[in-house]
Amino acid sequence: SPAHLPEPEGGLKCLIPEGAVCRGELLGSGCFGVVHRGLWTLPNGKTVPVAVKSLRVGPEGPMGTELGDFLREVSVMMNLEHPHVLRLHGLVLGQPLQMVMELAPLGSLHARLTASAPTPPLPVSLLCLFLRQLAGAMAYLGSRGLVHRDLATRNLLLASPRTIKVADFGLVRPLGGTRGRYVMGGPRPIPYAWCAPESLRHGAFSSASDVWMFGVTLWEMFSRGEEPWAGVPPYLILQRLEDRARLPRPPVCSRALYSLALRCWAPHPADRPSFSHLEGLLQE
Ligand code: ATP
Repeated sequence: SPAHLPEPEGGLKCLIPEGAVCRGELLGSGCFGVVHRGLWTLPNGKTVPVAVKSLRVGPEGPMGTELGDFLREVSVMMNLEHPHVLRLHGLVLGQPLQMVMELAPLGSLHARLTASAPTPPLPVSLLCLFLRQLAGAMAYLGSRGLVHRDLATRNLLLASPRTIKVADFGLVRPLGGTRGRYVMGGPRPIPYAWCAPESLRHGAFSSASDVWMFGVTLWEMFSRGEEPWAGVPPYLILQRLEDRARLPRPPVCSRALYSLALRCWAPHPADRPSFSHLEGLLQE
């Protein structure tokens, strides 16, 4: 019901009539929705290519948590405006509910990193540019009091060959209280191999735990999309991290960049660099 939609500051970005969006090819599916390529016809007749995420609906309607996560993602994205954050154009209040988003025509960075020959690997200079764009977008999210909690190359989309956008705001939470942390209320799926030790042990997330995930994302980029801690059972990952084990330096990653990743993986959150500091270091 529209009456139950979260009302973000500034109100709804754009309510799009159901008939104005035409869905095409399936781009992929996630935990609580499917994403299609689409075409949005504006009132002036112009058409805009978009991505349409539809809430998955079971035979008895959407599950409570899925609807909650979907609406949370909408209300978070509505208030964001940054060149490296995926833009939400608006919402279709139809059956099912649909989010109309900017289309990233080149798909996810993870898919590009793992593409097989004859697709050439991405040059190191481009990976460094992506890291700068990512640090800038994450500094922006932190300045809005948000923690992403699912930073990984699968959630970075390529809007053009040299532009990435942070996407997938389903796990985003506001940083509460004076300690700038979000503590999980109960068991929910989390991406183990990307998580900081304090997230795995205490369910605690903060900008510093996003910085840890940035380090793992950097590692993925230079490992051509390999899975971090592949073959290590999830329950052993925390033990390894607390024993000070770290992901190894990928051969194409310079020592300087790897030492940056190691700083992101400092055991104590306060010892990790901030995103704005990282942005400056990467610029240098
Ligand atoms: P989850 O939501 O469960 O964390 P996810 O990131 O796989 O998982 P979605 O955000 O629903 O799920 O995206 C599903 C797929 O659609 C992804 O593979 C993603 O690459 C693709 N996709 C999502 N948004 C866009 C977009 N704006 N442009 C192009 N492709 C997109």
